[in-house]
Amino acid sequence: MQTILTDSIEEAASILNAGGIVAFPTETVYGLGAGIGHPEAISRLFLAKGRPADNPLIVHIFRTEQLEEVAAAINLQAQRLIKSFFPGPLTLVLPKNPAVPYSVTAGLETVGVRCPANPVAREFLRLCGCAVAAPSANRSGLPSATNWEAVMQDLDGKIDCLLRGKPSTIGLESTIVDCSGATPMLLRAGAVTLEQLQAVVPEITANALMEQEEQPKCPGLKYPHYAPKASIVLCRADEKIAAGSDSSAFIGMSLPPQGVTLFKVCRTLEEYGRELFGFFRLCDARGIQVIYCELPSSEGLGRAIRDRLMRAAGVS
Ligand code: AMP
Ligand code: MG
Repeated sequence: MQTILTDSIEEAASILNAGGIVAFPTETVYGLGAGIGHPEAISRLFLAKGRPADNPLIVHIFRTEQLEEVAAAINLQAQRLIKSFFPGPLTLVLPKNPAVPYSVTAGLETVGVRCPANPVAREFLRLCGCAVAAPSANRSGLPSATNWEAVMQDLDGKIDCLLRGKPSTIGLESTIVDCSGATPMLLRAGAVTLEQLQAVVPEITANALMEQEEQPKCPGLKYPHYAPKASIVLCRADEKIAAGSDSSAFIGMSLPPQGVTLFKVCRTLEEYGRELFGFFRLCDARGIQVIYCELPSSEGLGRAIRDRLMRAAGVS
């Protein structure tokens, strides 16, 4: 299959509307979309990514009014979060509307829904005219794609089209909050921070033990994620590291250890989040074997960065 690389939002939307699978930019990471009314496209999407069928997809909408096509009920807490954070990097898990097929929700009675803020994504979704199921546009298990080149690297020849856009400004997947039960629960940390969420809905809890439950609330979290080929070694800000190898790298906010061949020192947590997955991919391209990653504290955006680093290292 030839993957059409285009800058035209109209062309990309018409390919999706004809039953194609199309990668597109968002502010979090690039997404790989299929119309929820195109069952064949949905199964091709799982195949292209190598994604297990029991890992549900987030449904994307271009404006809040479209929520009723996707969700069956929106409780008061969800309404407050929508008012504060839509459009933006927040996914809400809500009771699903019967129009959403079980292939999208992996058999669940709930659906994850997000309205991205990126103007290219919103125009694309508007032209699609239907809700679009879209996981991250990377091969399953690899770091998410935060620029179009990374999408091509993983999915060239496996998808119908890539709508080329700018690099993702956040670079980390959306925050996920489950609003389908009595107590809203943070399922995945992201750029909308726990502190920001709790300022709007104080009763939100962070459920760090999800993946140890027999029936995880967020099925995707039980799979390995975000992992480059290189091994990840987590370190603290003040830790002395004897890198000493010519195939090691460092990313963090402190000065890099001596002896690393490649490093990225980020001035802010925002920069750390934005650069992380691109740096992982760069390290793999350079044949780096060990990446030392500095763990930030879990305040604010630090929680999301810690979460991705720990999963990439296989320690959570
Ligand atoms: P990705 O799109 O690759 O960032 O992955 C989407 C994440 O959202 C996965 O971890 C899924 O398990 C999670 N997710 C999607 N839909 C639901 C849902 N209905 N309930 C809980 N988690 C969901
Ligand atoms: Mg993903």
